[in-house]
Amino acid sequence: MFSAFLIKYGEIGVKGKNRFKFEDALVFQIKRVLEPLDRAFDVVRIDGRILVTTDSPLNEIEYDETLVKLKKVFGIVEICPAETVPGMTLDDIKSTVLRHIDENFPDKKITFKVNARRGNKSYPIHSMEINASVGEAILEAFPEMRVDVHNPDIYFKIDIRDSIYVYSKGIKGTGGLPLGTNGRALLLLSGGIDSPVAGYMISKRGVELDCVYFNAPPYTSDRALQKVKDLARILSDYSGKINLHIINFTDIQLYIYDKCPHDELTIIMRRFMMKIAERIARANGCLGLVTGESIGQVASQTLKSLFTTDEACTMPVYRPLIAFDKQEIVDKSEEIGTYETSILPYEDCCTIFVAKHPVTKPNLNIIKLHEQNLNEKIDELIETALDKDEVLSIGV
Ligand code: ATP
Ligand code: MG
Repeated sequence: MFSAFLIKYGEIGVKGKNRFKFEDALVFQIKRVLEPLDRAFDVVRIDGRILVTTDSPLNEIEYDETLVKLKKVFGIVEICPAETVPGMTLDDIKSTVLRHIDENFPDKKITFKVNARRGNKSYPIHSMEINASVGEAILEAFPEMRVDVHNPDIYFKIDIRDSIYVYSKGIKGTGGLPLGTNGRALLLLSGGIDSPVAGYMISKRGVELDCVYFNAPPYTSDRALQKVKDLARILSDYSGKINLHIINFTDIQLYIYDKCPHDELTIIMRRFMMKIAERIARANGCLGLVTGESIGQVASQTLKSLFTTDEACTMPVYRPLIAFDKQEIVDKSEEIGTYETSILPYEDCCTIFVAKHPVTKPNLNIIKLHEQNLNEKIDELIETALDKDEVLSIGV
Protein backbone atom coordinates (compact mmCIF):
# COMPACT_ATOMS: atom_id res chain seq x y z
CA MET A 1 0.00 0.00 0.00
CA PHE A 2 2.88 2.34 -0.71
CA SER A 3 2.15 5.76 -2.13
CA ALA A 4 5.42 7.56 -1.44
CA PHE A 5 9.19 7.10 -1.49
CA LEU A 6 11.63 8.89 0.73
CA ILE A 7 14.85 9.23 -1.17
CA LYS A 8 18.15 9.53 0.67
CA TYR A 9 21.33 10.74 -0.92
CA GLY A 10 24.86 10.75 0.35
CA GLU A 11 27.76 12.63 -1.12
CA ILE A 12 25.69 15.44 -2.53
CA GLY A 13 24.62 16.39 0.96
CA VAL A 14 28.08 17.71 1.76
CA LYS A 15 28.86 19.88 -1.22
CA GLY A 16 28.46 23.24 0.51
CA LYS A 17 27.08 25.95 -1.74
CA ASN A 18 26.77 23.56 -4.63
CA ARG A 19 24.35 21.47 -2.68
CA PHE A 20 21.23 23.08 -4.16
CA LYS A 21 22.52 22.54 -7.66
CA PHE A 22 23.04 18.85 -6.93
CA GLU A 23 19.68 18.46 -5.24
CA ASP A 24 17.90 20.19 -8.11
CA ALA A 25 19.67 17.90 -10.57
CA LEU A 26 18.57 14.87 -8.58
CA VAL A 27 14.95 16.08 -8.47
CA PHE A 28 15.11 16.69 -12.21
CA GLN A 29 16.48 13.19 -12.89
CA ILE A 30 13.88 11.51 -10.69
CA LYS A 31 11.14 13.39 -12.55
CA ARG A 32 12.71 12.35 -15.86
CA VAL A 33 12.71 8.62 -15.11
CA LEU A 34 9.20 8.62 -13.63
CA GLU A 35 7.70 10.70 -16.46
CA PRO A 36 7.08 7.77 -18.85
CA LEU A 37 5.09 5.84 -16.21
CA ASP A 38 1.29 6.01 -16.25
CA ARG A 39 1.26 7.40 -12.73
CA ALA A 40 1.73 11.08 -11.92
CA PHE A 41 4.26 11.71 -9.17
CA ASP A 42 5.17 14.78 -7.17
CA VAL A 43 8.88 15.11 -6.53
CA VAL A 44 9.95 17.67 -3.95
CA ARG A 45 12.99 18.51 -1.93
CA ILE A 46 12.54 18.36 1.80
CA ASP A 47 15.29 18.92 4.34
CA GLY A 48 18.11 16.61 3.31
CA ARG A 49 15.88 14.22 1.38
CA ILE A 50 13.65 14.01 -1.61
CA LEU A 51 10.05 13.03 -1.27
CA VAL A 52 8.25 11.29 -4.13
CA THR A 53 4.50 11.03 -3.72
CA THR A 54 1.47 9.98 -5.71
CA ASP A 55 -2.17 10.51 -4.85
CA SER A 56 -3.23 6.91 -4.11
CA PRO A 57 -1.49 3.66 -3.18
CA LEU A 58 0.46 1.92 -5.94
CA ASN A 59 -0.52 -1.61 -6.92
CA GLU A 60 2.21 -4.24 -6.99
CA ILE A 61 3.08 -3.79 -10.64
CA GLU A 62 3.23 0.00 -10.37
CA TYR A 63 5.33 -0.28 -7.23
CA ASP A 64 7.84 -2.59 -8.95
CA GLU A 65 8.02 -0.40 -12.05
CA THR A 66 8.67 2.71 -9.98
CA LEU A 67 11.36 1.01 -7.96
CA VAL A 68 13.14 -0.26 -11.09
CA LYS A 69 13.27 3.32 -12.37
CA LEU A 70 14.47 4.82 -9.10
CA LYS A 71 17.21 2.20 -8.77
CA LYS A 72 18.75 3.56 -11.97
CA VAL A 73 19.04 7.16 -10.83
CA PHE A 74 22.61 8.11 -10.00
CA GLY A 75 22.95 9.99 -6.73
CA ILE A 76 20.38 7.98 -4.79
CA VAL A 77 21.82 6.07 -1.86
CA GLU A 78 18.63 4.64 -0.40
CA ILE A 79 14.99 4.38 -1.43
CA CYS A 80 12.45 4.01 1.38
CA PRO A 81 8.97 2.98 0.21
CA ALA A 82 6.49 4.74 2.47
CA GLU A 83 2.79 4.70 3.30
CA THR A 84 0.94 7.96 3.50
CA VAL A 85 -1.15 8.18 6.67
CA PRO A 86 -4.70 9.11 5.62
CA GLY A 87 -5.09 11.78 8.32
CA MET A 88 -3.08 13.69 10.89
CA THR A 89 -4.16 12.26 14.25
CA LEU A 90 -2.25 9.85 16.47
CA ASP A 91 -4.98 7.25 15.84
CA ASP A 92 -4.45 7.66 12.10
CA ILE A 93 -0.75 6.99 12.60
CA LYS A 94 -1.36 3.94 14.76
CA SER A 95 -3.80 2.31 12.39
CA THR A 96 -1.45 2.86 9.44
CA VAL A 97 1.50 1.39 11.35
CA LEU A 98 -0.51 -1.65 12.44
CA ARG A 99 -1.75 -2.31 8.94
CA HIS A 100 1.79 -1.79 7.60
CA ILE A 101 3.09 -4.44 9.99
CA ASP A 102 0.29 -6.82 9.16
CA GLU A 103 0.93 -6.52 5.41
CA ASN A 104 4.71 -6.53 5.42
CA PHE A 105 5.82 -8.70 8.32
CA PRO A 106 4.09 -12.08 8.27
CA ASP A 107 6.58 -13.34 10.85
CA LYS A 108 5.99 -11.32 13.98
CA LYS A 109 8.89 -12.70 16.00
CA ILE A 110 10.83 -9.49 15.54
CA THR A 111 12.22 -6.73 17.68
CA PHE A 112 11.44 -3.13 16.79
CA LYS A 113 11.82 0.50 17.67
CA VAL A 114 9.51 3.34 16.69
CA ASN A 115 11.28 6.43 15.47
CA ALA A 116 9.15 9.53 14.85
CA ARG A 117 10.57 12.72 13.39
CA ARG A 118 8.75 16.02 13.21
CA GLY A 119 9.85 17.77 10.03
CA ASN A 120 6.79 19.89 10.71
CA LYS A 121 7.52 21.36 14.15
CA SER A 122 4.00 22.75 14.50
CA TYR A 123 2.67 19.23 14.85
CA PRO A 124 1.18 19.24 18.36
CA ILE A 125 2.48 15.90 19.67
CA HIS A 126 6.16 15.45 20.48
CA SER A 127 8.22 12.69 18.89
CA MET A 128 8.84 10.90 22.20
CA GLU A 129 5.16 10.75 22.91
CA ILE A 130 4.39 9.41 19.42
CA ASN A 131 7.11 6.77 19.82
CA ALA A 132 5.74 5.58 23.14
CA SER A 133 2.14 5.59 22.08
CA VAL A 134 2.65 3.83 18.73
CA GLY A 135 5.01 1.32 20.40
CA GLU A 136 2.34 0.47 22.92
CA ALA A 137 -0.26 -0.01 20.19
CA ILE A 138 2.07 -2.38 18.36
CA LEU A 139 2.74 -4.49 21.47
CA GLU A 140 -0.96 -4.69 22.16
CA ALA A 141 -1.86 -5.75 18.61
CA PHE A 142 1.07 -8.14 18.11
CA PRO A 143 2.13 -9.64 21.42
CA GLU A 144 4.99 -11.66 19.81
CA MET A 145 6.80 -8.48 18.89
CA ARG A 146 9.36 -7.01 21.30
CA VAL A 147 10.87 -3.59 21.74
CA ASP A 148 14.63 -3.28 21.43
CA VAL A 149 15.81 0.32 21.56
CA HIS A 150 19.48 -0.48 20.95
CA ASN A 151 19.60 -3.02 18.16
CA PRO A 152 16.13 -3.65 16.74
CA ASP A 153 15.45 -5.88 13.72
CA ILE A 154 13.17 -3.19 12.30
CA TYR A 155 12.77 0.55 12.75
CA PHE A 156 9.28 1.88 12.16
CA LYS A 157 9.88 5.41 11.03
CA ILE A 158 7.22 8.06 11.16
CA ASP A 159 8.00 11.21 9.23
CA ILE A 160 5.68 14.11 10.00
CA ARG A 161 5.37 16.83 7.39
CA ASP A 162 2.31 18.31 5.65
CA SER A 163 1.29 14.67 5.50
CA ILE A 164 2.60 11.84 7.63
CA TYR A 165 4.66 8.99 6.19
CA VAL A 166 5.36 5.57 7.66
CA TYR A 167 8.20 3.37 6.45
CA SER A 168 10.33 0.52 7.64
CA LYS A 169 12.68 -0.53 4.92
CA GLY A 170 15.41 0.94 2.76
CA ILE A 171 16.41 -0.35 -0.65
CA LYS A 172 19.94 0.35 -1.84
CA GLY A 173 20.27 2.88 -4.67
CA THR A 174 23.13 3.12 -7.17
CA GLY A 175 25.00 5.90 -5.36
CA GLY A 176 27.17 8.23 -7.41
CA LEU A 177 26.24 11.78 -8.40
CA PRO A 178 23.20 13.03 -10.29
CA LEU A 179 23.46 13.34 -14.05
CA GLY A 180 24.00 16.82 -15.31
CA THR A 181 26.30 17.86 -12.49
CA ASN A 182 29.53 17.06 -14.32
CA GLY A 183 29.30 17.88 -18.00
CA ARG A 184 29.33 15.49 -20.93
CA ALA A 185 31.78 12.94 -22.34
CA LEU A 186 31.93 10.87 -25.52
CA LEU A 187 31.99 7.09 -25.06
CA LEU A 188 33.58 4.91 -27.73
CA LEU A 189 30.90 2.26 -27.69
CA SER A 190 31.61 -1.07 -29.37
CA GLY A 191 29.36 -4.09 -29.13
CA GLY A 192 31.60 -5.71 -26.52
CA ILE A 193 31.30 -6.25 -22.80
CA ASP A 194 33.66 -3.51 -21.64
CA SER A 195 32.67 -0.21 -23.18
CA PRO A 196 29.04 -0.16 -21.92
CA VAL A 197 30.34 -0.78 -18.41
CA ALA A 198 32.92 2.00 -18.86
CA GLY A 199 30.14 4.38 -19.93
CA TYR A 200 28.05 3.41 -16.92
CA MET A 201 30.95 4.04 -14.53
CA ILE A 202 31.74 7.51 -15.86
CA SER A 203 28.08 8.43 -16.01
CA LYS A 204 27.68 7.33 -12.40
CA ARG A 205 29.80 10.35 -11.46
CA GLY A 206 27.20 12.70 -12.92
CA VAL A 207 28.57 12.81 -16.47
CA GLU A 208 26.13 12.75 -19.38
CA LEU A 209 27.11 10.65 -22.39
CA ASP A 210 27.20 10.74 -26.12
CA CYS A 211 28.47 7.65 -27.94
CA VAL A 212 30.36 6.92 -31.12
CA TYR A 213 30.37 3.58 -32.91
CA PHE A 214 32.79 2.78 -35.73
CA ASN A 215 30.91 0.69 -38.20
CA ALA A 216 32.51 -1.27 -41.03
CA PRO A 217 29.86 -2.38 -43.50
CA PRO A 218 29.75 -4.76 -45.31
CA TYR A 219 32.40 -6.42 -43.14
CA THR A 220 30.20 -5.94 -40.12
CA SER A 221 26.50 -6.76 -40.20
CA ASP A 222 23.38 -4.73 -39.46
CA ARG A 223 22.92 -6.97 -36.49
CA ALA A 224 26.24 -5.78 -35.04
CA LEU A 225 24.97 -2.21 -35.39
CA GLN A 226 21.63 -3.16 -33.86
CA LYS A 227 23.51 -4.61 -30.91
CA VAL A 228 25.26 -1.29 -30.34
CA LYS A 229 21.93 0.56 -30.54
CA ASP A 230 20.48 -1.88 -28.01
CA LEU A 231 23.42 -1.33 -25.67
CA ALA A 232 23.05 2.44 -25.97
CA ARG A 233 19.36 2.01 -25.12
CA ILE A 234 20.13 0.02 -21.97
CA LEU A 235 22.80 2.55 -21.00
CA SER A 236 20.38 5.43 -21.53
CA ASP A 237 18.17 4.08 -18.75
CA TYR A 238 20.94 5.26 -16.46
CA SER A 239 22.63 7.97 -18.47
CA GLY A 240 19.67 9.80 -19.94
CA LYS A 241 19.32 10.71 -23.57
CA ILE A 242 22.31 9.61 -25.68
CA ASN A 243 23.29 10.86 -29.12
CA LEU A 244 24.79 7.84 -30.86
CA HIS A 245 27.17 8.81 -33.67
CA ILE A 246 27.64 6.10 -36.27
CA ILE A 247 30.82 6.56 -38.25
CA ASN A 248 31.44 4.54 -41.38
CA PHE A 249 35.01 3.39 -40.86
CA THR A 250 35.31 0.92 -43.74
CA ASP A 251 37.31 3.02 -46.18
CA ILE A 252 39.72 4.14 -43.49
CA GLN A 253 40.28 0.55 -42.37
CA LEU A 254 40.79 -0.70 -45.90
CA TYR A 255 43.24 2.11 -46.58
CA ILE A 256 45.24 1.31 -43.43
CA TYR A 257 45.11 -2.38 -44.37
CA ASP A 258 46.47 -1.51 -47.77
CA LYS A 259 49.27 0.80 -46.65
CA CYS A 260 50.52 -0.30 -43.23
CA PRO A 261 52.14 -3.43 -41.77
CA HIS A 262 49.42 -5.82 -40.71
CA ASP A 263 50.75 -6.43 -37.22
CA GLU A 264 50.29 -2.68 -36.59
CA LEU A 265 46.74 -2.48 -37.98
CA THR A 266 44.92 -2.54 -34.71
CA ILE A 267 47.02 0.12 -33.06
CA ILE A 268 46.92 2.45 -36.07
CA MET A 269 43.21 1.92 -36.46
CA ARG A 270 42.71 2.71 -32.79
CA ARG A 271 44.72 5.90 -33.15
CA PHE A 272 42.41 7.05 -35.94
CA MET A 273 39.36 6.13 -33.91
CA MET A 274 40.66 8.43 -31.16
CA LYS A 275 41.35 11.25 -33.61
CA ILE A 276 37.85 11.04 -35.09
CA ALA A 277 36.22 10.66 -31.69
CA GLU A 278 38.04 13.78 -30.50
CA ARG A 279 36.65 15.75 -33.43
CA ILE A 280 33.10 14.60 -32.64
CA ALA A 281 33.60 15.34 -28.95
CA ARG A 282 34.81 18.88 -29.60
CA ALA A 283 31.95 19.57 -31.98
CA ASN A 284 29.41 18.43 -29.40
CA GLY A 285 30.59 19.98 -26.17
CA CYS A 286 32.08 16.78 -24.74
CA LEU A 287 34.98 17.31 -22.36
CA GLY A 288 36.60 13.89 -22.57
CA LEU A 289 36.62 10.51 -24.30
CA VAL A 290 35.72 7.26 -22.54
CA THR A 291 36.87 3.77 -23.51
CA GLY A 292 36.51 0.29 -22.04
CA GLU A 293 40.22 -0.45 -22.02
CA SER A 294 41.86 -2.34 -19.18
CA ILE A 295 45.61 -2.85 -18.78
CA GLY A 296 46.86 -6.03 -20.39
CA GLN A 297 43.49 -7.35 -21.50
CA VAL A 298 44.52 -7.65 -25.17
CA ALA A 299 47.53 -6.67 -27.28
CA SER A 300 46.18 -3.18 -27.89
CA GLN A 301 45.85 -2.59 -24.16
CA THR A 302 49.41 -3.04 -22.88
CA LEU A 303 50.87 0.09 -21.34
CA LYS A 304 52.93 0.62 -24.47
CA SER A 305 49.87 0.28 -26.69
CA LEU A 306 47.83 2.61 -24.49
CA PHE A 307 50.71 5.09 -24.56
CA THR A 308 50.70 4.93 -28.35
CA THR A 309 46.92 5.21 -28.64
CA ASP A 310 46.75 8.09 -26.22
CA GLU A 311 49.24 10.16 -28.18
CA ALA A 312 46.79 10.36 -31.07
CA CYS A 313 44.54 12.84 -29.30
CA THR A 314 44.90 15.72 -26.90
CA MET A 315 41.63 15.41 -25.05
CA PRO A 316 41.57 13.56 -21.71
CA VAL A 317 40.72 9.88 -22.22
CA TYR A 318 38.90 8.32 -19.28
CA ARG A 319 39.35 4.58 -18.85
CA PRO A 320 37.35 3.69 -15.76
CA LEU A 321 38.02 -0.06 -16.16
CA ILE A 322 41.77 0.36 -16.38
CA ALA A 323 42.47 -1.77 -13.29
CA PHE A 324 39.49 -4.11 -13.47
CA ASP A 325 39.87 -7.84 -14.06
CA LYS A 326 37.70 -9.25 -16.83
CA GLN A 327 35.51 -11.11 -14.36
CA GLU A 328 34.85 -7.91 -12.44
CA ILE A 329 33.77 -6.22 -15.66
CA VAL A 330 31.53 -9.18 -16.52
CA ASP A 331 29.94 -9.05 -13.05
CA LYS A 332 29.26 -5.35 -13.44
CA SER A 333 27.77 -5.80 -16.90
CA GLU A 334 25.43 -8.46 -15.54
CA GLU A 335 24.43 -6.13 -12.74
CA ILE A 336 23.61 -3.23 -15.05
CA GLY A 337 21.89 -5.44 -17.63
CA THR A 338 24.21 -5.12 -20.66
CA TYR A 339 25.87 -8.56 -20.51
CA GLU A 340 23.26 -10.60 -22.41
CA THR A 341 23.33 -8.15 -25.31
CA SER A 342 27.12 -7.78 -25.28
CA ILE A 343 27.74 -11.50 -25.71
CA LEU A 344 25.61 -11.83 -28.85
CA PRO A 345 28.06 -13.15 -31.43
CA TYR A 346 28.14 -10.44 -34.12
CA GLU A 347 31.54 -9.24 -35.23
CA ASP A 348 32.78 -5.72 -34.84
CA CYS A 349 35.27 -3.95 -37.04
CA CYS A 350 38.25 -4.75 -34.79
CA THR A 351 37.76 -8.50 -34.91
CA ILE A 352 37.59 -8.61 -38.67
CA PHE A 353 40.75 -6.71 -39.53
CA VAL A 354 42.77 -8.04 -36.65
CA ALA A 355 46.20 -9.53 -37.40
CA LYS A 356 47.19 -13.00 -36.20
CA HIS A 357 50.06 -11.58 -34.18
CA PRO A 358 49.43 -7.92 -33.44
CA VAL A 359 52.30 -5.92 -31.92
CA THR A 360 52.09 -5.81 -28.16
CA LYS A 361 54.89 -3.28 -27.75
CA PRO A 362 54.36 -0.74 -30.48
CA ASN A 363 57.05 1.87 -30.87
CA LEU A 364 55.40 5.26 -31.29
CA ASN A 365 58.05 6.56 -33.67
CA ILE A 366 57.77 3.56 -35.94
CA ILE A 367 53.99 3.70 -35.87
CA LYS A 368 54.10 7.39 -36.81
CA LEU A 369 56.54 6.64 -39.58
CA HIS A 370 54.23 4.00 -41.01
CA GLU A 371 51.28 6.34 -40.70
CA GLN A 372 53.03 8.58 -43.21
CA ASN A 373 52.12 5.94 -45.81
CA LEU A 374 48.59 7.26 -45.32
CA ASN A 375 49.39 10.91 -46.04
CA GLU A 376 47.88 11.01 -49.46
CA LYS A 377 44.27 10.20 -48.65
CA ILE A 378 43.74 9.88 -44.91
CA ASP A 379 42.65 13.47 -44.21
CA GLU A 380 40.08 13.34 -46.95
CA LEU A 381 38.80 9.97 -45.72
CA ILE A 382 38.44 11.34 -42.20
CA GLU A 383 36.53 14.39 -43.45
CA THR A 384 34.22 12.19 -45.50
CA ALA A 385 33.59 9.89 -42.53
CA LEU A 386 32.78 12.91 -40.34
CA ASP A 387 30.53 14.43 -42.99
CA LYS A 388 28.55 11.22 -43.16
CA ASP A 389 28.26 10.91 -39.37
CA GLU A 390 24.78 9.53 -38.74
CA VAL A 391 23.37 10.59 -35.37
CA LEU A 392 20.62 8.72 -33.56
CA SER A 393 18.95 10.05 -30.45
CA ILE A 394 18.45 7.20 -27.98
CA GLY A 395 16.49 7.13 -24.73
CA VAL A 396 14.53 9.83 -22.91
P1 ATP B 1 34.84 -3.87 -25.67
O1 ATP B 1 34.39 -5.05 -24.89
O2 ATP B 1 34.36 -2.57 -25.10
O3 ATP B 1 34.55 -4.02 -27.12
P2 ATP B 1 37.44 -4.90 -26.02
O4 ATP B 1 37.96 -5.64 -24.86
O5 ATP B 1 36.85 -5.67 -27.15
O6 ATP B 1 36.41 -3.81 -25.51
P3 ATP B 1 39.03 -3.41 -27.91
O7 ATP B 1 38.30 -4.04 -29.03
O8 ATP B 1 40.51 -3.36 -27.90
O9 ATP B 1 38.64 -4.00 -26.50
O10 ATP B 1 38.52 -1.94 -27.75
C1 ATP B 1 38.94 -1.13 -26.73
C2 ATP B 1 37.99 0.02 -26.60
O11 ATP B 1 37.95 0.78 -27.82
C3 ATP B 1 36.57 -0.42 -26.37
O12 ATP B 1 36.30 -0.63 -25.02
C4 ATP B 1 35.79 0.75 -26.93
O13 ATP B 1 35.75 1.81 -26.00
C5 ATP B 1 36.65 1.18 -28.12
N1 ATP B 1 36.21 0.52 -29.37
C6 ATP B 1 36.67 -0.60 -29.94
N2 ATP B 1 36.02 -0.88 -31.08
C7 ATP B 1 35.13 0.10 -31.27
C8 ATP B 1 34.15 0.41 -32.28
N3 ATP B 1 33.95 -0.37 -33.34
N4 ATP B 1 33.41 1.53 -32.13
C9 ATP B 1 33.59 2.34 -31.06
N5 ATP B 1 34.48 2.10 -30.09
C10 ATP B 1 35.25 1.01 -30.19
MG1 MG C 1 35.64 -4.95 -28.67
